[in-house]
Amino acid sequence: MQPTTIVCVGRNYVAHARELGTEVPEKPLLFFKPPSAVIGDGQPIVLPSASERVEHEGEIAVIIGRRARNVSEAEALAVVGGVAPLNDVTARDLQRTDGQWARAKGFDTFCPIGPAMPLPPDWRELEVICRVNDEVRQHGRASEMAFGIPYLIAYVSRIMTLEPGDVLATGTPEGVGPLRPGDVVEGGLVGGGRVRKPGGAQGGR
Ligand code: MG
Repeated sequence: MQPTTIVCVGRNYVAHARELGTEVPEKPLLFFKPPSAVIGDGQPIVLPSASERVEHEGEIAVIIGRRARNVSEAEALAVVGGVAPLNDVTARDLQRTDGQWARAKGFDTFCPIGPAMPLPPDWRELEVICRVNDEVRQHGRASEMAFGIPYLIAYVSRIMTLEPGDVLATGTPEGVGPLRPGDVVEGGLVGGGRVRKPGGAQGGR
C-alpha cells in the first residue's frame, strides 16, 4: 500500500546523535520523506549527482494499520499494522547546507522499505541491522531509542492524522556511512523470534 505520509524521527538514538556531533533533542525531531522516494526490495538507490556523500540510515519503520488521530500512548500499539526495515537514505552534505531536509532526504529512491512483519509482543525486543556488502554497519535496538514507539505514535498523532499504510520511521542507530556506486545495502529487522532479511537496494548512478 502506498503511504500518503512518511514521517521520520531524527536523532532518536544517543550514540547516533553523538556521531553527528549533536545531542538527542528534548522533543522528537520530525521531518518528512516524500512518497515518491519509496522503492521496494531489490530496487536500486540512485545516487544523485547533486550530492558528494549519500549515506545509509537503517531504521525500524512502523506501518500504520488503523487511522490514528490523537491516540494515547496506551492506545498507540493498537494502530500498528506491522513493522518493516526502512533505509532513510540521506545526502549528508546537503543536509548540512540546507536549513530543511526536503532535498537531502527526498530524492527519488531514497526510501527503500522492506517487507513488513507483525509487531512483536514487546516492541522493545525489535532490532534493526543494516549491512553494506555483507558487512554489518549498523545494529540498533528499539530499547535504546530516546523516544519509544508508543510515545512517538502518540506524539505524531496529536499533530497529523495517520492513515493505514502510512509510515513512521523511528530514527537510525549509530554507524551511518557513505554509499558508493555498486554497493549492496540490506536492512533487516529482528524481533519476536523472527528474522527478516530483505534484499536491500543497490547503490549506483
Ligand atoms: Mg534517519
